[in-house]
Amino acid sequence: MIDNRFIEKFKALETPFYFYDFDLLRRTLDEVKQESSKYGYIVHYAVKANANDALLKVIRDAGMGADCVSGNEVAKAIEIGIPREKVAFAGVGKSDKEIRTALENDIFSFNCESIPEIEVIDELAGEAGKVAPVAIRINPDVDPQTHEYITTGLKDNKFGINHWDFDEVGRRLRSLKNIRLTGIHFHIGSQITDISVFEQLSLKVNKIQEWFVENGFHLEHINVGGGLGINYEKPEEEPIPDFKSYFKAFHDNLELQPGQQLHFELGRSLVAQCGHLISRVLYVKKGLETQFMILDAGMTELIRPALYKANHKATNLSSNGELVKYDVVGPICESSDTFSRGTLMPVAKRGDLVALHSAGAYGESMASTYNMRDMVRSYNSDELLK
Ligand SMILES: *Cc1c(COP(=O)(O)O)cnc(C)c1O
Repeated sequence: MIDNRFIEKFKALETPFYFYDFDLLRRTLDEVKQESSKYGYIVHYAVKANANDALLKVIRDAGMGADCVSGNEVAKAIEIGIPREKVAFAGVGKSDKEIRTALENDIFSFNCESIPEIEVIDELAGEAGKVAPVAIRINPDVDPQTHEYITTGLKDNKFGINHWDFDEVGRRLRSLKNIRLTGIHFHIGSQITDISVFEQLSLKVNKIQEWFVENGFHLEHINVGGGLGINYEKPEEEPIPDFKSYFKAFHDNLELQPGQQLHFELGRSLVAQCGHLISRVLYVKKGLETQFMILDAGMTELIRPALYKANHKATNLSSNGELVKYDVVGPICESSDTFSRGTLMPVAKRGDLVALHSAGAYGESMASTYNMRDMVRSYNSDELLK
């Protein structure tokens, strides 16, 4: 999965670090462009998946918009050069400061998640002498069949506005003067691998759109969020997700009004497979039934296993010896700092390079300095080949 040219370079580098394969990233973005442009769909990149500067520039160069969930992400997207008219801003708890940042930058859309939030945006837009473009984030009550911590579109989740509040929302939208309803927004969860979930979402969107039409609201756009999953078990078999089936599911099921645009906000599916967390084996220690492979990377660099019980495939880049059962763990003082248990891997020794794959999304962007560790570094294929 990682070319030998790069493994040679890794030998001289201090670990742990993230390695991004920009060649795969560019091929992934090309595929997305090809499959989405068939239908005239517009794709934003969900910046929270990975806000690495060099990676954002590759995404900018591919012509993507940005989906942001904080004022700093909005500022970052614009600083990197993503056109402001392609920047959307979502999130259940936008602060006044963040709303002001977004207003100053004249972004594409505020994706609003509650009536009180709409009122605050109206007030702040009024102060700034602007009319804010607003899309209502709606909770469609579709089960994404994924981990409960990354499920966001069920009626008891904190995200979005539920259908029983539509009448009230309609009244507020009509009375507020400093906002303009431009669309409706959905995002039901992440790591969704069952395409039929997106078909169900499309059918729900058709129903919800009826309410807006009946109530005299014209929607310029519909935004169906992100959530397309990737193959963590066998990344080598599926380095690029099945974007063809993904966009087709919407094309076949979602009914757009004439002139209406369909927007997407993909995070994980664009960047996960191009990223690898590279570490070294510090120690191999005998356990009760298995052996512990203690890496110099831990939950501070990659928290997904601790947070979501996620599994990242690990490869020993320095050994192809006989297979031994390992618990692959990090050095942090938490039992949850475990990457995998009972994994068969080639016999390891101190100093071996170990890669944790599919780590380009929600890896570096969730890194911390807990235990006063250094913030994780990163390298990309462009710079290593220079
Ligand atoms: C996180 C997020 C996304 C991206 O989700 P992925 O599963 O990474 O594609 C899109 N839209 C919103 C509003 C989000 O919060």
